[in-house]
Amino acid sequence: MEIKKENRSWLDALALSHPLVIAGPCSAETEEQVLDTAHQLKGTDVTYYRAGVWKPRTRPGNFEGVGALALKWLQRVKEDTGLKLATEVANASHVKLCLQYDIDLLWIGARSTVSPFIVQEIADALKGTEKVVLVKNPVNPDLSLWLGAIERLHASDIKNLGVIHRGFSTYEKTLYRNIPEWQMAIDLKNKYPNLPLMCDPSHIGGKRGMVFDISQTALDLNFDGLMIETHRDPEKAWSDATQQVTPTTLIKMMEDLRVRKESD
Ligand code: PEP
Ligand code: MN
Repeated sequence: MEIKKENRSWLDALALSHPLVIAGPCSAETEEQVLDTAHQLKGTDVTYYRAGVWKPRTRPGNFEGVGALALKWLQRVKEDTGLKLATEVANASHVKLCLQYDIDLLWIGARSTVSPFIVQEIADALKGTEKVVLVKNPVNPDLSLWLGAIERLHASDIKNLGVIHRGFSTYEKTLYRNIPEWQMAIDLKNKYPNLPLMCDPSHIGGKRGMVFDISQTALDLNFDGLMIETHRDPEKAWSDATQQVTPTTLIKMMEDLRVRKESD
């Protein structure tokens, strides 16, 4: 398989002078929460506004997202702020609804990347569209599973592609919520240099205090962008409360993060 320059044209066309930033809450909770957070990100370096509509919670009984209703709220975000929209999809009906509500970027979550059936179903539902699809690494540290999902999408004619490193599960007690495997991400980048590579420091760290340093490590390694969970009131978030940052913190982080120059 060859990933060509055209496969990253969705990113190049943005002509950004800084890494791509995808930001927004872990979950869309209420219309007010979605719109308020988005308004605070309007006019910043954020290009895509993310919000989970269907939430893949590890254990039942937690908030599982409000579903399609949130797509209406996201549509309002686009109208009001001009931000592009991003959400997670895990089956063909999610994809159909996202197409209906003109979501610009769809990502495949870590729990779905592992399943060739899910990935194929998503690819088939997206056929003939120009949507951007980002593939999060699978929950377990297996490069071939990650490559398999990417190659499956590419083979199904999904050409606007990218990947997100969100770290890997482990049974060991570590500082991280999901351990980063930087070398695996670099190996992936070396294999497919035209495949945009993003980092999700929020799910790697699991704590907001870790987000800046993980983001800086990713930029030092030449990642193309960051996906950072951002909530107007993180402590009251209905999911992932410990790792989300406020819009004010995110804006400050975007100013303080250093981008590696060729001369460094
Ligand atoms: C998320 O982005 O909110 C999410 C559930 O991510 P992951 O698939 O990385 O767990
Ligand atoms: Mn989350």
